[in-house]
Amino acid sequence: TTFADLGLSQPVLQALDMKGYTTPTPIQEQAIPAVLKGRDLLGIAQTGTGKTAAFMLPSIDRLREADKQIPFKSCRMLVLAPTRELAVQIADSAKDYGALAGLKVQCIVGGTSVGKDRNKLHRGTDILVATPGRLLDLIDQKAFNLNGIEVLVLDEADQMLDLGFIHALRKIRELAPKDRQTLFFSATMPKAIKELVSGFCNNPVQVSV
Ligand code: AMP
Repeated sequence: TTFADLGLSQPVLQALDMKGYTTPTPIQEQAIPAVLKGRDLLGIAQTGTGKTAAFMLPSIDRLREADKQIPFKSCRMLVLAPTRELAVQIADSAKDYGALAGLKVQCIVGGTSVGKDRNKLHRGTDILVATPGRLLDLIDQKAFNLNGIEVLVLDEADQMLDLGFIHALRKIRELAPKDRQTLFFSATMPKAIKELVSGFCNNPVQVSV
């Protein structure tokens, strides 16, 4: 199987070419066609399996296809991650893949200047990668809203629960539009995560690697 076989568009295939990726990993092979169809996804996968590209590449194509304006003080795709390090890493790959597709990427994490984050988000962005706590602060300050979300990604959801982000996640779920697509990733599936999945996802395609 090639990335082209999975149904990805030319700009995304070009970005993959530049990165030197030739063959999809198993999670990419299973997840990309389902996400392109607009399905919700439950991915049970560890870091190192290629899960970032598995959610980023097809989402970029969905955003390109919908071709909407960047929403004021909001984003079209929100990726939630447990730690600064992971958020920055996801944002870097979003920039690699999204640049050729002409998508704007921002990253906001705790421990940096909130004032700078407010400025960064004022004009909105296509893709936002964030840690849940800082994002909620900005929402409470009315510096950001979730009204524009077309795609919501939870990465390493089990880690987010372990770090105490459950209330932030529930609040984010309440505020996000109901007709969004949700892509949910966790390395483990304890009961608390299963409950979270059923609250966030609508009949998800399950992929386990
Ligand atoms: P991830 O699991 O998303 O953290 O990705 C793990 C590593 O694999 C990252 O360094 C990616 O750049 C790399 N990677 C992801 N997909 C592929 C692929 N299809 N071919 C080669 N490397 C990849």
